[in-house]
Amino acid sequence: LASVVALAPELSGGKGGVLVSFEDITALETAVEMRRDFVANVSHELRTPLTALMGFIETLRTAARDDPAARDRFLSIMEREAARMNRLVGDLLSLSRVEGEERMRPTGMVDISAVLRSVMQTLEHSAQSASVTLIREGEGGEMKVPGDCDQLTQVFTNLIENAIKYGGQGGEVRVAVSRLASEPVLRGRALRIEVTDRGEGIDPLQLPRLTERFYRVDTHRSREKGGTGLGLAIVKHIVARHRGRMRIESTPGEGSKFTIILPET
Ligand code: ADP
Repeated sequence: LASVVALAPELSGGKGGVLVSFEDITALETAVEMRRDFVANVSHELRTPLTALMGFIETLRTAARDDPAARDRFLSIMEREAARMNRLVGDLLSLSRVEGEERMRPTGMVDISAVLRSVMQTLEHSAQSASVTLIREGEGGEMKVPGDCDQLTQVFTNLIENAIKYGGQGGEVRVAVSRLASEPVLRGRALRIEVTDRGEGIDPLQLPRLTERFYRVDTHRSREKGGTGLGLAIVKHIVARHRGRMRIESTPGEGSKFTIILPET
């Protein structure tokens, strides 16, 4: 865009003139567009469960009024939809907390072994319900990195939860940690955490878009599994704030591996 400013004759020594200044507004335009998309996505995501809730309220008031069995079934669906909205709002809050600045001041040293132990304990029940076996591999003992304990807990909760959700019924999810004496990209000592499943895998063409907000390979399947489409976007931002790296590898039909590398200093 060019903004054209006519110079007043008295300022240009009576000769008059034109000053042309070019400004690059592409970045600004992209930001405005992204914000618009984001608001549209959020509205859509919230409206879906809301519409369902309103429909069921109406049915409860009319058709299902004198049918206790139908009433119970509808109330369960309403509970599920309300829980989905609750998760969505929770994820939106998490995202807005970590999205602002790309670097943060670490709040302390976090023991990744302890984080993984507690996340795996929390998710044990969902793993059992999906007949998935959670397996911890690699080095044990204390392994500390500078960071925020709650945020790192969220990273591994999201990754292991996904591995359980999309890892295939009856499968295995492996969580391995290893120490890297010298990580070439981070130029120093680092921890590598790998979450591997033997599930459906992801089409390589979809991999680059996976960490976008609200991106899902299969929207229906994600919704059915209670997903919000924000999990990996949150992971990406938290890892970046810890000066870490994330890598996704996947073979359709065989499974996926999510690798997180966190600097030790
Ligand atoms: P969601 O809440 O939908 O799970 P995420 O941001 O966590 O959102 O993940 C985005 C999409 O990436 C998912 O909808 C799913 O299609 C795909 N995905 C994530 N993890 C895996 C995995 N371990 N195996 C296969 N697909 C996965």
